[in-house]
Amino acid sequence: MLERIRARARELAPEIASWRHHFHAHPELSFEETETTRRVVELLRSFGYEHLRIGTAGLPTGVVADLNPDKPGRCHALRADMDALPMTEEGTCPYRSTNPKAMHACGHDAHVAMLLGAARILKEMEEDLPGRVRLLFQPSEESPHRSGARAMIAENALAGVDTISGLHVWSPLESGTLGYRTGPLMASADQWECTIEGKGGHGGLPHQAVDPVVAASLLVGALQTIVSREINPLDTAVLTVGRIEAGITFNIIPDRAEMMGTVRTFDRDVRKDIQARMRRIAEGLCETMRCKADFRYKEVLPPTVSDPGLAAKAAALAKPLFGEDNVLEIPPVMAAEDMSLYLEKIPGVFLFLGTGNAAKGLTQAHHHPHFDVDDDVLPLGVSLHCLLAWASLAGAL
Ligand SMILES: [Zn+2]
Ligand SMILES: [Zn+2]
Repeated sequence: MLERIRARARELAPEIASWRHHFHAHPELSFEETETTRRVVELLRSFGYEHLRIGTAGLPTGVVADLNPDKPGRCHALRADMDALPMTEEGTCPYRSTNPKAMHACGHDAHVAMLLGAARILKEMEEDLPGRVRLLFQPSEESPHRSGARAMIAENALAGVDTISGLHVWSPLESGTLGYRTGPLMASADQWECTIEGKGGHGGLPHQAVDPVVAASLLVGALQTIVSREINPLDTAVLTVGRIEAGITFNIIPDRAEMMGTVRTFDRDVRKDIQARMRRIAEGLCETMRCKADFRYKEVLPPTVSDPGLAAKAAALAKPLFGEDNVLEIPPVMAAEDMSLYLEKIPGVFLFLGTGNAAKGLTQAHHHPHFDVDDDVLPLGVSLHCLLAWASLAGAL
C-alpha cells in the first residue's frame, strides 16, 4: 500500500506544487478564503467528489468532503487550514503574493495543496479503503479569537469521526524529516483581563482615595507567585501581564486600573487550575487593598495534545516513508494551533513536516515576510496523509 501511495504522490508532485503556487500567489485572510474554497471545490469535483459541504459560519469558505460516506466501519479525518496572514511578502519567488496585504507566511498554501493531493489519491483508492475518510478544508486558523476549527466543530464536522490527523509544514526542521511528540506539542494561548475599581482623588490626599494603581502594581507581583510557588515545578506555564492602563496625569489618583495578559501551558488541568488561582489572588488582593477586582479569563485555544498512542504509531508508520533516522521526537513549541480543538474532542495526532532547506535558502521562520515552503516535501506530506488515513481505518493507528 505504501509503495502504491508513494509512487502516485511522486507522479502528481508537479501538479501539487502548481496548486500550491496558485494558492501562494492568491492568499486570503481568515474567514475570507472564498476563492481558495472555490478552487478547492473545483478540483475536488474534477477528482470525482460529489456531495461537498461548502461554507462555514454562514460564510462561503471551508469545505467538508467525504469518501465512502455510506460504508460501515471507522472514519478518519484529515485536516488542512487555508488562511494567510495580513502582511506583505518580501520574497521574489515567481509565484509571490499578488496581494500586498496578504501572504501565505505560515505554509497553509502547502497544507491545502497536500490535502488536495491526498484527496485525489484516496479517491482513486476509494473502493479499497476499509472505511470512511473525511477531508476538512478549514478556514481561519490564524485568528484565534475567530477559530475556523471551532466553527467547523459547531457545525458537526466531527460527527461520526473516530480519529483525526493534521500536518503543519515546519521550517525549523529540515526537509525530509518529520517531527512528532507523544503528548503535548503546542501550548494553550488564553487571554485574561482585570478591571480594578478604586476611588479617585487628589494625588496629594491619598487617604481620601482608594488607589487602584497600587493594587494593580501589587497584583503584578502576586500573580508571579502562581507559576513560581503554586504550580508543580515539573509542569510548565507562562503568565504574562501584557498591558496596564490607569490614570491621566501626575497629581490625580484614578478611579480604576485595567490590566490584561496571556497564560500559556501544555497541560489541560494546569490551564484550568491557573484560572482559579488568578481569580482568587486578584479578588483577594484587591479586597485587601480596599478595591474591587472584576477578573475575566477567556479560554482562547487549548494546548495541542496528540494522543500518545496514536503519535507513537504514526511515527512508526512514517519511518518507511521518511527513513528510520528522519522521524524525530521533538520538544514542544510555545505557539498555539486550533488543531487543538479537534484533539480535545477526539483522539488524533498533529505532526510537523520539515521544510527547512538551507541549500535552497528556505530557512526563514514562520510568519516572516520571506517565508516559503520547499516543494520537494509536498509528496511526502501527501503520502503521509494517505498512509495515516489508511492505517487508522485498518485499525493500525
Ligand atoms: Zn501561523
Ligand atoms: Zn500555521
